[in-house]
Amino acid sequence: MAGAANEIEKLAELVEQAKSLVAFTGAGISTECGIPDFRSPGGLWTRYKPIEYSEFLASPDIRLEAWRRYFRLHETMRGAKPGRGHQAVAHWVETGKAAHVITQNIDNLHQESGVPKEKLIELHGNGTFARCLACSTRHELDWVREELERQARAPACRLCGGIVKTATISFGQPMPETVMAEAHGATEACDLFLAIGSSLRVYPAATLPLLARRWGAKLVIINNESTDFDEMADLVINRDIGETLSAASLSLANHFRSKTSPAA
Ligand code: NAD
Repeated sequence: MAGAANEIEKLAELVEQAKSLVAFTGAGISTECGIPDFRSPGGLWTRYKPIEYSEFLASPDIRLEAWRRYFRLHETMRGAKPGRGHQAVAHWVETGKAAHVITQNIDNLHQESGVPKEKLIELHGNGTFARCLACSTRHELDWVREELERQARAPACRLCGGIVKTATISFGQPMPETVMAEAHGATEACDLFLAIGSSLRVYPAATLPLLARRWGAKLVIINNESTDFDEMADLVINRDIGETLSAASLSLANHFRSKTSPAA
């Protein structure tokens, strides 16, 4: 445990010294909330081959299958509450330590933990609602579910008849340029970049830690397993996210108390 304590101290020190950090999160921050990630044992990829965007567009049967799968995942997502990792990140945002949270997650848990909209960059969209791909009209998931049950096919937009899809970015779907530009801006402006719970294998999101390092920020990677970026990081912590971030927050609070309490 001495190793863990040292790593947590080092993390707390880096966070304390940072003027403006970015928390970049992946599916690993939400596993303790009961939402499976992609690549861990038992993760979503061990069960399903992902449906590519082009397949979704091309076939009504694949759209129906995509929606059925999505609602199975959504059952776990909608009961989930933010975990210790989300809470630590939200606290750093609230206290002004973190300028932005950039997330690959679609589960809405950073919002639920209190991170305001203007501080959150959702690279892969949000899975709590749907949009028409043609006219962008928002559709609620309850309506999509009712339509699926009623007619056993993927619903079309109520306004224009276009294809309705979760408001997320699928494999093979172009990333919105404005979102990527915001993520680049936030990465360029930070002096500490925390990559939390991501295998760093999904591109272009995975270029961000590299850019952060290149643009002069310190890089910390917190993940159960190693990543291709470990060698360039200032600190790598291969431990549980909830435990690590809650312990680092506590350590920071203790530093702060010992600095501000009157000398005995
Ligand atoms: P990933 O599944 O590729 O990687 C998650 C990483 O987190 C793994 O390396 C795993 O070892 C690690 N991990 C899991 N639980 C952990 C824990 N408690 N402590 C420490 N490490 C832990 O996920 P990714 O890199 O985010 O990329 C997958 C893509 O899938 C993203 O684009 C994301 O949009 C999507 N996705 C999102 C959710 C979600 O919204 N919660 C869930 C699954 C997939």
